[in-house]
Formats: sequence, C-alpha cells, structure tokens
Amino acid sequence: MTAGLAAAEDVLTVGAARRRLASRLQSGWSSGAGSAALDARLLLAHALGVEAMSLPLRDGEAVPIEAMAAAEALVARRARGEPVARLLGYKEFWSLRFDLSAGTLVPRPDTETIVATALDRIAAAGQRGDPLRLLDLGTGSGCILLALLSELPAAVGVGVDRSTDAVNTAAANAERFGLGDRARFVAGNWADGLAGPFDAILANPPYVEGADLPDLPIEVIGHDPRLALDGGPDGLGAYREIIPELPRCLALGGFAALEFGPRQAGPISELAGRAGLDAEIRRDLAGRERVALLTIRSAKT
Ligand code: GLN
Repeated sequence: MTAGLAAAEDVLTVGAARRRLASRLQSGWSSGAGSAALDARLLLAHALGVEAMSLPLRDGEAVPIEAMAAAEALVARRARGEPVARLLGYKEFWSLRFDLSAGTLVPRPDTETIVATALDRIAAAGQRGDPLRLLDLGTGSGCILLALLSELPAAVGVGVDRSTDAVNTAAANAERFGLGDRARFVAGNWADGLAGPFDAILANPPYVEGADLPDLPIEVIGHDPRLALDGGPDGLGAYREIIPELPRCLALGGFAALEFGPRQAGPISELAGRAGLDAEIRRDLAGRERVALLTIRSAKT
C-alpha cells in the first residue's frame, strides 16, 4: 500500500514530464541544447505511443511510470549524441515517413532539393503523367525514388544500393506507401549491370572529404553508415564513377540530378563536361549550391 502511494506520487503530468526531459537534455548535452524542447516532446510522445503533435493537448494527463522510464532512457541516449530519427526509427521526408535501419542514411531536408529539381524539370517538359523510368543510385531508405513515385502516378523506378540492408529497408518503405508495384530495389554498385535507358537518374552519393569525416557531428559520424558519407580523399570518388556512366544510361531527353557538398559544384561541372553533359546548378532552401542537373549536351551549330 505504501509502495503504491509512493509510486502514485511519482506520476508526472505530460507537461511536467516534457519540461523535466527537456531540461535534462539541455544540461546533459551542449550541442543538442538548441532542440531540447522539441526532442523531448518527440521522444516522450514515442514512449507514450501517441503523435507528437497531440502532446500539447495532453499536458494535464498522467504519464505512466513505464512510459516515463522509457522516455528517460531515450533522452539519455539522445544526450550521448544519438539522433532523434535513429531513436524513433523513422524520419519524415517529402511528407512521407521513412523507416530507417543501420544501412540507411537519415534523409536530410537538403535532399528534397533533388526531388524538387526533378519535379520542376519533369513538369516543365509536360511529363508528369508519363510512364517515366527513374533510377536512384545509392538509394538508402529509398527516400528520393519513393518521393518522386508518390508525385508521378505513371512512373516506375529502380533503386540501387551497395548495402542489402538498405535495399530491404527501401523495399519495405515502398510496400508501406503502396508503391511496391512501381519500385524495385536491387543490391549493386552504382549503375553496373543496369541496361536502362532511364528518363531520370537521381543520386545523393557519399561526398564528404575523407579528412573531414572525423569532424562531422557525432550524430552523423557515429550513426550514419560510413558508406553513405565517405567520398574518398577529395569527396568526389562517387561522381567519378557515376558521371561517365550517365550518357550510356540516360534516355533521349533524360536528365540526372546529383546532390553534392560545399565547393563541389565546379569539379562536378567539369566531370560532367568531360562526359559530354551540360550542368546546371540548383540551390537548396538555405541558398547553398546543392544539386547538379545534368543533361546530354545538345549539338550546337
Ligand atoms: N549531407 C550529408 C551530411 O550531412 C552528407 C551525405 C552525403 O555524403 N551524401 O553529412
């Protein structure tokens, strides 16, 4: 009886739990302090099994003791640098909820620039309803390909990844979104062995310079797969493999949209030029050069 009463006194309201978890995050981990309130809300909602959006409406409700223990364990992992997306097991991208696994990069908002660039180009060509063939190289969770398929009702696509774990995760995401019949995921090395042709080729390849890897935030280097980050000594290794393959794989009138990192627009445009491709650079929402739109160079007279 006494134990029961003591336990009852320990029961917090959602509002108090939220504040307690946020302040623990704020003091426990300086680099995560900026998002402490939001992270606490997401992790508490996860532990309670409710939508994070609904949490403020539940401020007066009691948090069961087991849920509070689960939330505290998640917050402790967060305070050691584990990303919220890894703790939840999913990340939203293009308004779709992508499940993650060890072999997938956490989708970044920056990468939506590829989706937007491809859709712009397809819409400008009046092809939104066409049975386009898409190829996503280094597909990870499948986020680029599946976001595009969700917008293009007649398109089909292939996603390739060197990691079979990623291939399985992407295929499961496709099924969950009801896109399984229009998406295939295969293990492979870039476009090796793929015949094509493809109307659009998309890729967010690894592009971090080898020497910069140790300086990446713990959330990235400690939790994203190195295969998805490490672009070799100058960060351009993947582009040297992918770009020369594009003329062989692209359909007439097709295009490629490749994400890249800081200071890479110049070298990528040069690699494209050598492969007979024209490059147009697109910026992300923060105004940074982010995506190269590549097309077969038209014969000029
Ligand atoms: N943009 C990623 C980052 O935040 C890098 C991903 C990549 O190399 N494609 O580190």
